[in-house]
Amino acid sequence: MNGTDIARRGILLVLSSPSGAGKTTITRELVARDPNLRISVSVTTRPKRAGEVDGQHYHFITRARFDDMVAKGELLEHAIVFGNCYGTPRAPVEAVLSAGGDIVSDIDWQGTQQLKASVRGDLVSVFVLPPSMAALEERLRTRAQDSPDVVRARMAKSTDEMSHWPEYDYVVVNQNDDLEASVRRVQAILAAERVRRDRQTGLADFVNRLRSGG
Ligand code: ADP
Ligand code: 5GP
Repeated sequence: MNGTDIARRGILLVLSSPSGAGKTTITRELVARDPNLRISVSVTTRPKRAGEVDGQHYHFITRARFDDMVAKGELLEHAIVFGNCYGTPRAPVEAVLSAGGDIVSDIDWQGTQQLKASVRGDLVSVFVLPPSMAALEERLRTRAQDSPDVVRARMAKSTDEMSHWPEYDYVVVNQNDDLEASVRRVQAILAAERVRRDRQTGLADFVNRLRSGG
């Protein structure tokens, strides 16, 4: 709902990027600033990193449980990234969208392609680019979550990942030390998408009421 209480469909906002470009940081900022935006918590089979909380950053599950969720259709999309399985639980996303709410998710390009087919009009996709490869490497190093080998592997994969930018609705360059500008750009995208005519399903009724003097 917006200020005039016009019913609308919810938005699934997806952010993708090469690892280290800043999509997780931007996603967390968006949610911290917007009480109407929920976050989609993915399932993964990868081991928990230091500082990560089960149920908050990810639902950390076994491969057997992951396969079971896939078999039962409990995931809206799923993919293997850097050798680990990831997926978006279907039920929370569908519950938010059907109530006209918005939900943000940080997933890779394979997952985004699947959502394009299943979620269609409710999907708004944003690709985040680093300002340079040197900046990307520096961010991966300073994040200090991965060994030098893993950082090298992520850098090697990044050109591949970046080739998917044309599949996204919007592209944002996350400039060095200007996270604020990137967050504002994505907030602007969300604000504009919320008032798209085809998303505001209650417009016809609202205008009819206006025209009849209501
Ligand atoms: P991703 O989720 O895309 O892998 P993260 O959000 O984890 O990337 O960001 C990687 C690292 O870069 C983190 O340490 C984060 O604090 C840092 N970072 C994010 N945005 C910027 C920016 N605009 N300038 C400098 N560092 C940034
Ligand atoms: P990380 O393990 O560093 O948190 O994430 C590795 C990659 O997996 C990132 O590109 C991230 O966007 C992606 N990812 C995280 N959750 C999901 C998900 O549910 N589905 C898909 N397709 N990718 C995901």
